[in-house]
Amino acid sequence: MSRFLRAEQVLLPTGMRAACIEIDHGRIVAIRDYADVPAGAPLLEVPGTHLLPGLVDTHVHINDPGRSDWEGFYTATRAAAAGGVTTLVDMPLNSIPSSTNAEAIACKLRAMEGKAHVDIGICAGLVPENAANAGDLFREGVLAFKCFLADTGVNEFSHVNERELEAGMRSIGRVGAPLFVHAELPGPLLAAAHAQGDVTPEAARRYAAWLDSRPKTAEDEAVALVIRMSELTGARAHIVHLSSASALPLIARAHDAKIALSAETCPHYLTFAAEDIPDGDTAYKCAPPIRERANRERLWQALREGLMHQVVTDHSPATVELKCSQSGDFMRAWGGISSLQLGFAVVQAEGAARGLSFTQVVELMSSKPAELVGLTGKKGSIVVGADADFAFWDPSATWTVDAMQLEHRNKITPYAGRQVLGRVVRTLLRGETIFELNADGLQFARPAGGFLRRRLGAA
Ligand SMILES: [Zn+2]
Repeated sequence: MSRFLRAEQVLLPTGMRAACIEIDHGRIVAIRDYADVPAGAPLLEVPGTHLLPGLVDTHVHINDPGRSDWEGFYTATRAAAAGGVTTLVDMPLNSIPSSTNAEAIACKLRAMEGKAHVDIGICAGLVPENAANAGDLFREGVLAFKCFLADTGVNEFSHVNERELEAGMRSIGRVGAPLFVHAELPGPLLAAAHAQGDVTPEAARRYAAWLDSRPKTAEDEAVALVIRMSELTGARAHIVHLSSASALPLIARAHDAKIALSAETCPHYLTFAAEDIPDGDTAYKCAPPIRERANRERLWQALREGLMHQVVTDHSPATVELKCSQSGDFMRAWGGISSLQLGFAVVQAEGAARGLSFTQVVELMSSKPAELVGLTGKKGSIVVGADADFAFWDPSATWTVDAMQLEHRNKITPYAGRQVLGRVVRTLLRGETIFELNADGLQFARPAGGFLRRRLGAA
């Protein structure tokens, strides 16, 4: 039997308007006028909220199995649900095994069983060992592939060199899947390390030490290489977590030349600035690093101008010990920021201050990431036929980020103490409420998410 949701502000692909959504068997079956609700039919309304499509985050490290003390399916997907994210794509590292062969992917699916609060797609790894036939893993139902061009920080997942990248792109290009690339090159990183010499423990507490070790040139040269390879092989490449704004003109030229290249950035690059990062606060460490204020504003400009189309979290947790939270040593700390629960709230507030409409920000975090991984029509938009995934957004809620209120496993965040305007107050996955914020706090339903297999024929 059909059920109905309605709001005075529903974010449809044509814009915001009052509407009533009819859902049946977990799908959207009709979009009706606001008043068009059959008498006596079950109706869900949350007064004062906007109704958005469930958000889609195509860059998440869950690290389970193998490193579930860093993060796990249960905790990561609770954080996602509380942040309005109903679909996420799990990266091929830092779990053990990493998702680089069929057996490892099967292992991943077993680890997620019964623990996922949201739907999860898998990104398979391109590594030297599987470069020639990486595309074969598409048969396992993965949505995308990922490789690194520089050291990954974990032993089980090696980076590819130029030759392996080309072989991998030819293989992945044949099946039409996107290849996500961590774009930093070893050469410029090595040169920076040489120039820097030994860093004393005291100097390592300064953020500048970390920033100096990861120069923009490492990103810019990597982006140039990926563009060349994409042109050579015809494969679709996607630059993950772009931080260096000086790579943007290269991306613009690739677009002009109709090369199949796209790029994403992350909430932390759009929110923080190197100049403001306190000494010893390793919660801010990630790679590539958060750069200067002026660089940040150019990333925003690229989003406004449509040069980048996705904002995703790169949710990447680690333990307190690995984060070196005690010593504050930026050079030794694990890099990674966890923001599944906060990403949308933070980015929409920052975006509003820079002239991006609410609708634009929602698209950057829902329909555009869905499109990247072949989920258009199923996830990320309120359209007939799509899964009934929604977030109810209260635009007037004001709150302060408290690390202990975050659901991810290790409560480390550079957003602690931040004032935020607007909050997800209820999330639905395939028609069922999976998260609700009420007077008793954050409430979650039993995990009902599952493996989101690539649909046959979808690239
Ligand atoms: Zn990542």
